Amino acid sequence: MTSFDIPEALVRAEIDAAALRENAAVLAKRLAPARLKCVVKANAYGHGVDLVAPVLFAAGWREFCVATIPEALQLRTLLGPDAEILAWLYGPTTDLDEAVRAGIQLGVSTVESLDRLVDAARRTGATARIHLKIDTGLGRNGLSPEALVRAFDWLRSYDEDRLAAGHSGGTDDSGPTAGIRIVGIMSHFAVADEPERPETAAQAAVFSSAHGQLRAVLDAADGRLGESDALDVHIANSPGALTLGPCPGTSARVGLSLYGLSPLEDGDAAALGLRPAMRLVSTVINLKDIPAGHGASYGLTFTAATDTRFALVPGGYGDGLPRAASNRAEVAIRGRRYPVVGRIAMDQMIIDIGSGNTEVAIGDEVVIFGPGGPSAAEWGTWADTINYEIVTQLSARVDRRLMSGGHR
Ligand SMILES: *Cc1c(COP(=O)(O)O)cnc(C)c1O
Repeated sequence: MTSFDIPEALVRAEIDAAALRENAAVLAKRLAPARLKCVVKANAYGHGVDLVAPVLFAAGWREFCVATIPEALQLRTLLGPDAEILAWLYGPTTDLDEAVRAGIQLGVSTVESLDRLVDAARRTGATARIHLKIDTGLGRNGLSPEALVRAFDWLRSYDEDRLAAGHSGGTDDSGPTAGIRIVGIMSHFAVADEPERPETAAQAAVFSSAHGQLRAVLDAADGRLGESDALDVHIANSPGALTLGPCPGTSARVGLSLYGLSPLEDGDAAALGLRPAMRLVSTVINLKDIPAGHGASYGLTFTAATDTRFALVPGGYGDGLPRAASNRAEVAIRGRRYPVVGRIAMDQMIIDIGSGNTEVAIGDEVVIFGPGGPSAAEWGTWADTINYEIVTQLSARVDRRLMSGGHR
């Protein structure tokens, strides 16, 4: 195999380590006494989990959440045994043994997965630590009220069977008698980003009732299934963490706002004390003078009304930029905003810098979004989507790099 020194990528995502640390500190203070759980699913919302998670871990954060088991195992490899890692999304045939062996805590949304986790614990000789996930109104994953009743019945008979088999030592056993242990209860809000809506309080009430019932089940089992006082109770996401005071539960699973982005409509991240951790940049690689009447990009959906000058900028939907933002988006060059004209292509886009513009030169840095340019939320508006999707969909071609000294 021949190997090459790969030159710098054309589209780069600079990840500001200091912004991540500061955002985590601001959020933790806001949530206290509830603890911060750092959500780093989907490649840390596109920021690069291999960059983001070690920065947060080094800053002292120990609780991390991802969606899937492959994500959780990757994170375990990155952070080592001292990180507490929770994952909640897996299918009926997903292998659970590796997760249990690696000490990954799992959200449980079906009664059937309780059986599968007991088997995984027995096979691996490791206790399966689980968070019961309750559907309190989102209608997505989680135990429905009916399934929750069955889960409680299941837990009671599991405890009876273990007692009958002589496992008096509870659920912290290892080896062939290893079993499951309930360490948490969780749910997820549907509309916490719209503080005036009544459903959030209704969800919190359903959650609180399920929590009370779980406590009773654990107490009746004398702590053999888990300690009711030690339960980790969490329902809030970023919008919940930012709009509810005090934050319900013992911890909150915070994703988007950790990256310095606001989950709230018209939400100003800076007003919340948060700074965007990502700056997506490219470079002007060509300039040309364009006569009035000339078109731009596929479909010629833009026609120059007057003589003008086009700047060519690498960056397109192959990098994860939304084509839907064509003819709407803006970028910043030398601190000034310019419009994207014509369709955003797979690899490149055209910027109209105006006739006779001598300020912009080939080689100039272009801020696509982030500090010094438009926000990810503006790109979301231009593409009829949300900032979550803008950062998360950045593709593997984007070169993500950690800026220890902050953004320029
Ligand atoms: C993604 C996710 C979160 C984090 O949500 P943010 O709005 O990004 O803070 C929390 N909990 C669950 C279950 C999730 O899927």
